[in-house]
Amino acid sequence: MQRAAKEIRKQGQMGIERPLEPPKNGLLVPDLVPVAYEVLDQWKELVRGLKQLLNFVPIYGCRYCSEVHVGLVGHQIPDCLGSGNGQRRSLHSWVRGSINDVLLPIESYHVFDPFGRRIKHEHRFDYDRIPAIVELCIQAGVDIPEYPSRRRTQPIRMMGKKVIDHGGHVEDPQPYRSREEDSMALLSELDTFGPPTADCPPETDRQRLAERTLKAYSSVRRGLRLLMRKYTVKCCGYCSEVHVGPFGHDVKLCGAFKHQWRDGPAPNYVWHVRDPVGPPLTAALKRFYGKAPAVVEMCVQAAPPSRRPTAQ
Ligand SMILES: [Zn+2]
Ligand SMILES: [Zn+2]
Repeated sequence: MQRAAKEIRKQGQMGIERPLEPPKNGLLVPDLVPVAYEVLDQWKELVRGLKQLLNFVPIYGCRYCSEVHVGLVGHQIPDCLGSGNGQRRSLHSWVRGSINDVLLPIESYHVFDPFGRRIKHEHRFDYDRIPAIVELCIQAGVDIPEYPSRRRTQPIRMMGKKVIDHGGHVEDPQPYRSREEDSMALLSELDTFGPPTADCPPETDRQRLAERTLKAYSSVRRGLRLLMRKYTVKCCGYCSEVHVGPFGHDVKLCGAFKHQWRDGPAPNYVWHVRDPVGPPLTAALKRFYGKAPAVVEMCVQAAPPSRRPTAQ
């Protein structure tokens, strides 16, 4: 890795142009365009499905720590480490949660031209904040008119670490939320902040809905892995900031973009409840319990016990 960086610098000093392949040269990877469309479709399906499943399976979050519980009653395992809680290692203090506790929200700035100017701290409000997954899909080829993206026909050229030709500067359009009063309507399809869906599906649809949602979850994860082999997504090791695109940004949040995302966001693990209508999980039996990603646990509990879907 370091040797490669040194080599790039040396060639730059010698005036040798860097050979770049898509998407590093600013052009789309044609094979990944349909993958990006599929990821976005399945992501919407996943968000929609979870909002509906919330009508059947409650989510609890702890008031004092980040523990999440999926099930009718919160568990009674005394492992709360929250500082606001009277004594350490006490019972969690459960409050009703939302799908944000199941799919932890990860947002990034939407950039019109990832190879254009870096985002400056004082200009950070000129950019929309959207789920990082959606931003990745846009940069990989999905056209969402509300969040336009510069599509190049000519590759950018680099010498060493310097861009020598990026096709001239094109002014960034105004952020969508300042152009449009109703930007929340679109966002509620794309992000996890909306309320649970009021139109509760009939009881008979529960299993189909759980299966579809679980399938969407697997498809999103699979597609993300494919996209992230080629597209750069940097995540901070210290906070939840994620940046999609070849360069970081200059917004002072905590500012440490260290790691390339490889498998997408890490799932949030919760205790698996074997009998959803049984008594709460207790410390005495803790060693017999297992954990599952919260999304999977939600789908498993939503399906009637006879034919539960299995995670792929
Ligand atoms: Zn807690
Ligand atoms: Zn950070």
